[in-house]
Amino acid sequence: MTIYESVLDAIGETPLLRLRRLGTGLRPAIYAKLEFQNIGGSVKDRAALSMIRAAERDGLLAPGGTVVEGTSGNTGIGLSLVAAHLGYRAVVFAPASTAAEKIRLLRAYGAEVHLVGDFVPRSHADHLANRAAAFAANTPGAWLAQQYDNPANPAAHYESTGPEIWRDTAGGVTHLVASVGTGGTISGTARFLKAASRGTVQVVAADPDHSTYGGGDGAAKYVEGAGHALHPDTTEDIWPQAFDTALVDRYFRVSDRDSILTARRAAREEGLLIGGTSGTALAAALRLAEELDESHTVVVIIPDSGRNYLSTYFDDGWLTSTGFAEPSDASETVRSLLPAPAAGDQIPGVHLLAADSSVRHASDELHRRGVPADEVVFLALDRGATFGTVHPREAVAAVTQRSLQAALERDPRSAGEPAALHGIPFTPVGAGTPIADLPTPTGGSAGLSLDGELLAVLVDGRIVAAVAAVPAFPSATPGQAENALQVETAGQVDDTSANGASWAGEPSSVRA
Ligand code: PMP
Repeated sequence: MTIYESVLDAIGETPLLRLRRLGTGLRPAIYAKLEFQNIGGSVKDRAALSMIRAAERDGLLAPGGTVVEGTSGNTGIGLSLVAAHLGYRAVVFAPASTAAEKIRLLRAYGAEVHLVGDFVPRSHADHLANRAAAFAANTPGAWLAQQYDNPANPAAHYESTGPEIWRDTAGGVTHLVASVGTGGTISGTARFLKAASRGTVQVVAADPDHSTYGGGDGAAKYVEGAGHALHPDTTEDIWPQAFDTALVDRYFRVSDRDSILTARRAAREEGLLIGGTSGTALAAALRLAEELDESHTVVVIIPDSGRNYLSTYFDDGWLTSTGFAEPSDASETVRSLLPAPAAGDQIPGVHLLAADSSVRHASDELHRRGVPADEVVFLALDRGATFGTVHPREAVAAVTQRSLQAALERDPRSAGEPAALHGIPFTPVGAGTPIADLPTPTGGSAGLSLDGELLAVLVDGRIVAAVAAVPAFPSATPGQAENALQVETAGQVDDTSANGASWAGEPSSVRA
């Protein structure tokens, strides 16, 4: 029986749980380190406490002071609860797309939450990080946590997470698997375990497959809290100082589908409710375990619980609307509108322009590319890279050269306006959405997505352009049942998910 003298004592000392069911048939022992057992519900409580204690030691935070951070995620919750306990004011700047539940959670701990627009360029004063920094600079006694570059973040894990794993496995751990947001968890834990094992512990970073950490193209992804995406504010691709890449031996890239599926499997097969990045890490750990034998012990970090994601990864309507699942009954879905893979080349490809293009720029650019007047052009976030893949949340509107010309003829002053204003707004629709539930039957454009990636553009219920050849929908063929995501109820697409509002699509630099 443990008695805690304060909530701060209930941070750390999380248990290791042997994965008996998921590990069936695999030779090494696989242990999950249950970080949701920290009092605030995530691994970030450790970093929050460590950063606040370091700020106090360094004289940056004193009684009556204010803790400030730009974050929507678990770090905000950790900072808020530690601040509440120690009597500091907490002010959190969060992206407007942050799930309502998380904002409520921050407010429940007494934090002041300021919502900031999504996808604001890094150089703009309204960018989340700039707003947080300006607030801290103008508020006497305020301290900005800066988890991405704060050495007290990885230090928390060097001092606690790593030693706990070493002690609890009696020095038997051979492999560490963790997802990477700021890199604090993996860097601090790995540094300790490598030192303790004289360099023998192998470290695997589990990374969303578009994340640039593991070599991806930087497209956005659905799994919240880990990986590094390229956005207008991060196209320079500056990696956090908290992440010591030299400590990572291998990267395992994991798709959103595998992360979500593995999280769902853990709940249903092991009785363990875990979040999306836990699914990412666990999928990598299970893959790694196939290469190993009885002499190995794998420890996988479980950053938070599935309770935070009941309205997303564990919600059938969300899965359908994002294209990760289709209904198990026979209802006709949007997918039936897609061309067969062989016929895909008869559909024009999608042209992409930067989301903030002006009417003049867009029109000139389309002219230069020789795009026919009625061909639909997508305005999407410009990642400064080629658009290998487009995340539905990165697309904002569809325009045609004809619509741009009409705007210019109506009023030449529109040349400097954003082209998106003269297009048709865009709604992401999952391939599994029943046709009857198509949110924009007329007068709107929709991007049809499968597994969270944009495949095709629909205007007035008709496919007008395709991003890529349309892959077969993963189906529940015998022996492959684990790859299928079918949901029981057709037609339950909830509006908040269909328009992406429940996706915390904030730039990766503010997500941890
Ligand atoms: N998973 C979740 C759910 C998180 O919130 C975070 C923190 N952003 C991570 C994983 C990654 O942790 P770290 O910042 O220590 O790399």
